[in-house]
Amino acid sequence: MNLVALSVPIFLFLIAIEFVAGLLRQRKVYAFSDFVTNISCGIGQQVLGAFFAILTFAAYRFIYDEWRIFTIPDTWYYALLLFIGVDFFYYWFHRLSHEINAIWATHIVHHQSEEYNLSVALRQSWFQTCFSWVFYIPLSFLGFSPVLMVIIVALNTLYQFWIHTKLIRNMGPFEWIFNTPSHHRVHHGSNPKYIDKNHAGTLIIWDRMFGTFQKEEEEVVYGITVPLRSWNPFHANFHYWQELAAHASKARGMDKIRMFLKSPGWFPADQGGVKHAPEVNAASFKKFGIEVLPRIQWYVFLQFLFTIGAVTYYMFFANDWILGDNFSNLAQCAGLAAFILLTIFSLGALLENRGYGWPVEMLRLVAGMALILLFSDEAWFSGMLLFYPLMQVTLLAYVFIPSFLRTQTQTHKTTAKTAAP
Ligand SMILES: [Zn+2]
Ligand SMILES: [Zn+2]
Repeated sequence: MNLVALSVPIFLFLIAIEFVAGLLRQRKVYAFSDFVTNISCGIGQQVLGAFFAILTFAAYRFIYDEWRIFTIPDTWYYALLLFIGVDFFYYWFHRLSHEINAIWATHIVHHQSEEYNLSVALRQSWFQTCFSWVFYIPLSFLGFSPVLMVIIVALNTLYQFWIHTKLIRNMGPFEWIFNTPSHHRVHHGSNPKYIDKNHAGTLIIWDRMFGTFQKEEEEVVYGITVPLRSWNPFHANFHYWQELAAHASKARGMDKIRMFLKSPGWFPADQGGVKHAPEVNAASFKKFGIEVLPRIQWYVFLQFLFTIGAVTYYMFFANDWILGDNFSNLAQCAGLAAFILLTIFSLGALLENRGYGWPVEMLRLVAGMALILLFSDEAWFSGMLLFYPLMQVTLLAYVFIPSFLRTQTQTHKTTAKTAAP
């Protein structure tokens, strides 16, 4: 069972509460395009994660079956012990993902947002699991069962959802032991004193023990030191790899490899050497943004809600589809995965006012219709066959009719002016 899939309604509910609470306190907590990109990154991670999850589970299972030292029962007190173990290894994974360029290239995605709200928690890297699962292997050797491992790792991730908020200031004694919104705000800061601090998952004690703890003092400026300046979730996941490869190709000898293993900010001497993070100030910091027509925002928002439904459906069934021996199920799974990835690409392009945005979007809408036909054996098929085209035509009309009418009125006015004596 995918615990994250079960949590989707809770995530959405809490995001809605945070949004309303922000409005009531007259604080702008959310920025629309940033919100969409955050969730898009989370969606991509879940789509690809379905495949990675199967691989990592198989690896834990293999180690447990072949090489385990003890056989640890699945009782609540061992589960608690495992939770602490997972949290300890998470700290080291997370710390190294900030200190080694090749892992940072994946984890950077989580840090690109210049906002700080619950949607940032869902902004997850698509390829981070390729590195993170390795860190928990010692627990499989020790003899914790693979099922319990997967559940506890998921719970550790789920804990970190609620700490992504500006609306909870300080939690008193709870701050001594647990990771809190205040501690994690520091972690997301690009202020030089906050960089590479507070790597904790659930327990902040690891940072206190290993010297990476920093208290929240001056106001945090969120984001990375070289801003992403894009709403494209693909660019978010690949840009740092591209940058690393570009620097490595220019580097000489062992520096080509060092580029991937050194910490972010390190460059070969002939490319300028180490670059330190610049000082930033919350009052003067200018966030990235692109003006988009409100009706395009509504269009993207409604398409996005529909997509979240499709993603949740995917999350519930992907495991069975991939592991089952039915080829048509696998085709459905791959088709739905490709459609969801195309969706987040296309909606990102619309938010960036790209010239190719609407052509890609039209292609996507047709692909959606073809995809529904692929699910003709499902109970909801005939309903969707009717609903989908109706919904799309209505939304397109909502976006394009006002533009069409405006062009008509303008042409009319121009003609009238020309015709006037
Ligand atoms: Zn981090
Ligand atoms: Zn975070």
